Amino acid sequence: MNRRHFLQSALLVGSAGLLPATRAAEGTASGSFRPGMITTWDHGRIATEIGNPLLQAGTRALDIVEKGVIAVEDDPSVTSVGYGGLPDETGVVTLDACIMDGVGHRAGAVAFLRNIRNPISVARKVMDTTRHVLLAGDGALQFARQNGFPEQDLLTDAARQRWLEWKRGLNPNDNWLDQSHDTVTMLCLDRAGNLAGACSTSGLAMKIHGRVGDSPILGAGLYLDNEIGAAGATGVGELVLRTLASFTVVEFMRQGMRPSEACRAAFERMCEKIPEARQTQEALIAINKRGEVGCATNTGDFTFYYGDGELAQRNKPTPIT
Ligand code: ASP
Repeated sequence: MNRRHFLQSALLVGSAGLLPATRAAEGTASGSFRPGMITTWDHGRIATEIGNPLLQAGTRALDIVEKGVIAVEDDPSVTSVGYGGLPDETGVVTLDACIMDGVGHRAGAVAFLRNIRNPISVARKVMDTTRHVLLAGDGALQFARQNGFPEQDLLTDAARQRWLEWKRGLNPNDNWLDQSHDTVTMLCLDRAGNLAGACSTSGLAMKIHGRVGDSPILGAGLYLDNEIGAAGATGVGELVLRTLASFTVVEFMRQGMRPSEACRAAFERMCEKIPEARQTQEALIAINKRGEVGCATNTGDFTFYYGDGELAQRNKPTPIT
């Protein structure tokens, strides 16, 4: 079986169970592992293609996830992240992002940020240069300005058209949770054996002005422990927030579950507490310290990319019913 076929058969099993690539494992004092990365949705492809050569070159996971996420934020065809993201109900694009570094258990985040194309880099700046973790709204914008981030209107013509159509179709039964959404969440285990994660989103399209989702909240949209593994979420963030799903995945891995089992257990926990979670669109992804990755989702639309430094492998997991 050649390497590509091995990857395909290893990656496409069950709702989420999968093994990483065949590349030789790297060693540390605490055991062997396979460096790799996992990224949500089809836009995970550009992030993985950016990340693969960096992983090969020995770049640290923190820089890989930031650069991968920037590529998605910059892509105007991605209507749920950064520039080109769909606006809130008032026609303003507002962004949430967070980044976490396994080394030092550090984190930075921004919420309800306007006019800055790369919120992930502002989140990194918060982490690297302040004693704080989360900046929001006007304060986050002011911080970005002070740190030299250029300002621009993030509403593209295409996104404005979608917003105008939505306004025309508004009716008393309109449910904003039905509007489209997706997040780029990228987790990486680097060649030194360290973990990092990043996530960025424009959140739920046509959301109430001021709404903040799970993505900038540690433990909800993203969480990691450098001794255990990393996890991230995408989907309707309110349910992820109410159950701290990423934290839950990491804690299940701490108890000895593999990434796919831990994601599934956290998804089941979410459904136990909030039965509506079976109907809303949700997905959880994870990577452990050995470089094994997994996911659990309730939607057949969900895809993710796995990268091992060479291949960018698309996966379409079987949804949990
Ligand atoms: N979790 C994001 C939010 O609720 C949206 C998504 O990932 O689909 O803002």
